[in-house]
Amino acid sequence: MTTHTTRGTVRVAGHAYKPDGRFHFPAAQTPIRDERGELAGITNPREIIHIHSYGGEAVFFESLGRGRLPGSRCDNPLCVAHASVFLPFRIHCPDCLARCAVVDLTSIAQETARIHTFMITERTGAFNTLPTPIRFINVEFEGVCTILMSTLCVGEPAIGMRVMPVFNTEAPTYTILDLSWVPLGTPAGELPRYFHFGGTTP
Ligand SMILES: [Zn+2]
Repeated sequence: MTTHTTRGTVRVAGHAYKPDGRFHFPAAQTPIRDERGELAGITNPREIIHIHSYGGEAVFFESLGRGRLPGSRCDNPLCVAHASVFLPFRIHCPDCLARCAVVDLTSIAQETARIHTFMITERTGAFNTLPTPIRFINVEFEGVCTILMSTLCVGEPAIGMRVMPVFNTEAPTYTILDLSWVPLGTPAGELPRYFHFGGTTP
């Protein structure tokens, strides 16, 4: 019997999500008072568990935690963009809408990744978990027709700098935060906690 007192979890049965438990948790309001002690408002705490469906992108997030960087490729011979390779991962080709093939870009990234451009930000949005300042980098690869937005977690970025992918394989979150980049030549000992150079466990 379901008690609905536990934090919500989801399993899949019969190709459908089966949620169990609670997904929203209200907490007691607290008064906001002015300098004279008069009521000026309330806080209204709410905790919500979102369900984020990955669909055809699941293979991308699963692979990061295994130290692999997948992209996708249009294999439709009738497509004007036939054989185009995409990273960020695309489920479908934007030119012909055919389902793309999954391709392993780990080696291409390790051998050719460069910073196309970058920006450094000191202020972030809510729920940011990256240390500030965040060094956002746009990464380009040989043979890939798109540019990947990610972060540099060691050192300072420069346009044209060769970078290596690093992966959270020790405690994967199954989000884009399981991928980051370091300058080529960075020693393994300087990587952030849980992160490793990938490519060894296909
Ligand atoms: Zn196509």
